[in-house]
Amino acid sequence: ETVVRLTGVGKAFAGDTREVRALDGVSFDVPAGQFVALLGPSGSGKSTLLQLLNGLQKPTSGVATVLGVDPSSSGKAELRALRRQVGFIFQDFGLVGMRSVLENVCSGALGRLRGPRSGLLMYPRGLREQALAQLDRVGLADQAFQRTDTLSGGQQQRVGIARALMQRPRILLADEPVSSLDPLSSQQVMELIADIGRTESLTTVCTLHQVDTALTWADRVIGLNTGRVVLDSPTADVRDTD
Ligand code: ADP
Ligand code: ADP
Repeated sequence: ETVVRLTGVGKAFAGDTREVRALDGVSFDVPAGQFVALLGPSGSGKSTLLQLLNGLQKPTSGVATVLGVDPSSSGKAELRALRRQVGFIFQDFGLVGMRSVLENVCSGALGRLRGPRSGLLMYPRGLREQALAQLDRVGLADQAFQRTDTLSGGQQQRVGIARALMQRPRILLADEPVSSLDPLSSQQVMELIADIGRTESLTTVCTLHQVDTALTWADRVIGLNTGRVVLDSPTADVRDTD
């Protein structure tokens, strides 16, 4: 089963003096269960590609489909249904620091935090139990009632992963999930993403800028440079010098 399919995808932005081609003729398929690392320097088009898969950007040429659906031509209801199948992990974690860890995880099931003062009791008990189970899964059950901004970066990213899992996604999209973390935390977060992908049979697309991280954890590496695919290979076949 093909979960992600890009066919001749281009994305141009109007620049100050000339058009910027963030993506240019990008084609690849991702089969179910594969862990793809999207590798490239800053400005190579990695975030734009992830945003296309989530329907946050529209291609200016070509077609991108996720689970057979083209987000750029989907109606609101269809896009909402698609996004429920896609868990997103952010570089800056995307958490509300002043709220508890458990509230942040609960918000993954609803797509947002409840009102400013409502607190944890606003979430149904079943949801809170599910969130505690996800926190246990990422090794943070003991931190559930702490304020999120008291956690280390690596712990906060694990909260971000627990939150993404709340909607029981089939796909994980991760945008530079470890680029603000120290080496040890990076390793723990990558190991967790890879392990969850394997045990839950998730299809994972993860942007990275470090080659060794990609080679250690992914099944396949797709290299982007100035919006074009310059490498597409199983990690086992890539040497660090490629
Ligand atoms: P990466 O994630 O690899 O750093 P991006 O996808 O963020 O790359 O950006 C690719 C190129 O597209 C860059 O030149 C960037 O400046 C440009 N770009 C991205 N988003 C926009 C936007 N919303 N408006 C204008 N240019 C953009
Ligand atoms: P990243 O390293 O993840 O690409 P950036 O700082 O390049 O982060 O971009 C952050 C956000 O701003 C992204 O959503 C990207 O699409 C957007 N962006 C990047 N370049 C531009 C630009 N030149 N003009 C407007 N938005 C941009």
